[in-house]
Amino acid sequence: MRVLLVEDDEMIGRSLRQALEGGGWSVDWVRDGALAQSAFADGGYTCVLLDLGLPKQDGTEVLRRARERGDTTPVLVLTARDGLEDRIQGLDLGADDYLLKPFEFRELLARMRAVIRRRDGAAHSVIGGGGLQLDLTTREVLRNGTREALTAREFALLHALLERPGAILSREQLENRIYGWGEEVTSNAVDVLIHGMRRKLGPEAIRNVRGLGWRVAAA
Ligand code: CA
Repeated sequence: MRVLLVEDDEMIGRSLRQALEGGGWSVDWVRDGALAQSAFADGGYTCVLLDLGLPKQDGTEVLRRARERGDTTPVLVLTARDGLEDRIQGLDLGADDYLLKPFEFRELLARMRAVIRRRDGAAHSVIGGGGLQLDLTTREVLRNGTREALTAREFALLHALLERPGAILSREQLENRIYGWGEEVTSNAVDVLIHGMRRKLGPEAIRNVRGLGWRVAAA
């Protein structure tokens, strides 16, 4: 799963990126509002962590523009500002939740899970299709009553496919969801990953649609 981290404070940004990567996330970190806006517009993020006080363009402006485009990616506002007005403005503009700095990393992860779940439209943290269920909390896949642990990339792949069961995702769309910027992605990386998943989950779990991409069955 990919997260866009928007944070101009070098120390906070670095520690957040490290902790998120340790938690299995692919992290794209930008340090100003203009870069945040273009990265956000490129899409492919499961979640956006957004500081409000940023160089070049305020975080609230980044958020306002994203929502005006109809982008519904969950946004968690991270801010040192303790002013009530800022928080209200952020929520009015379409932030899903906010955290005041400093915060505990565990709480950040829990809130990220909560906003992602809400976006997935489920009260619980399981999404599914094609005989598979993905537990977003434990990052395990359930199939025929058995649970299997997943690597971070396997989880990102299944999360992308199971968000919209039946929909075909192209190689590029999957790469965008699985790998962060600057990561070396070999031309057959997605094939190798899917091959491994089929061995784990059965040959019918993820289907290839020739020339277009991959999908899981809708039911
Ligand atoms: Ca800041």
